[in-house]
Amino acid sequence: MTLKEYLKNTREVLKAKSIDAASLEGEILVRQVMNFNRVQLYQSLERQFPPDKQELLQTILERRLQGEPAAYITGEKEFYGLVFYVNKHVLIPRPETEHLVDKVISLADSNHLPVIADIGTGSGAIAISLALHLTNDRIFASDISTGALKVAGLNCHRHGVTERIKLLYGDLLETLPEKADIIVANLPYVRTADISPDNFEPLPALDGGEDGLDLIRRLCYQVKEKLNPNSYLLIEIGLGQKDEVITILNSFFPPVHIEVILDLRGIDRVICASFT
Ligand code: GLN
Repeated sequence: MTLKEYLKNTREVLKAKSIDAASLEGEILVRQVMNFNRVQLYQSLERQFPPDKQELLQTILERRLQGEPAAYITGEKEFYGLVFYVNKHVLIPRPETEHLVDKVISLADSNHLPVIADIGTGSGAIAISLALHLTNDRIFASDISTGALKVAGLNCHRHGVTERIKLLYGDLLETLPEKADIIVANLPYVRTADISPDNFEPLPALDGGEDGLDLIRRLCYQVKEKLNPNSYLLIEIGLGQKDEVITILNSFFPPVHIEVILDLRGIDRVICASFT
């Protein structure tokens, strides 16, 4: 059978199991087995599928059908036009988090904001995307998971920003060595009851407690001591969390100016608080 036929079969199997984006994911899995980029795959469609790779394709297809995300199978995920290593120690970067990066870049471009801290950096996707788009900032990236910090370190190396990003091990802002001008955080915010038992991602990166806001609340509590004057706090949130987060911010920092940024599905996704 040709690669084209294998690709078609793989896509059909995924589609039959109602996997979203079955067509794209089928391609990703076949490329992974062949060790091909996109162009190489599409140039080789009429070639015979190598018999010695059949077992491997079957194995990774089974893993995907068991619910393991394709990004963990391939070990990579694209975010903000960059490819990041991922493994089971980190949350897989989501496209909606690109809004957070966009906003930080626009703030840093139009104001003098030299020190940025990415709290709960995971794979490092936010901090590294910022480092590659902003030239003169000092960037800290913290996480409480040593497994995640290893992945962030590999990604810093992959993108040539090891000198620009200082990785910190610690709980939220605890080990941040200086006050920041922008604090950005995509912390766990999923309500415990909403986490699927079949979830493959690290629970500490998703679980935000009963209302999903345990860590965001703690961050807001710590942040006052860690922000310079004329600074910003940007937090990613989930569906239905906007009002409560605004209430938390108002209780810690009256008066604060708040902007809410929606994602492409129209969900309130980023809270941007400015302190003057
Ligand atoms: N957006 C992710 C999800 O819904 C959660 C990310 C997070 O908790 N920071 O699965």
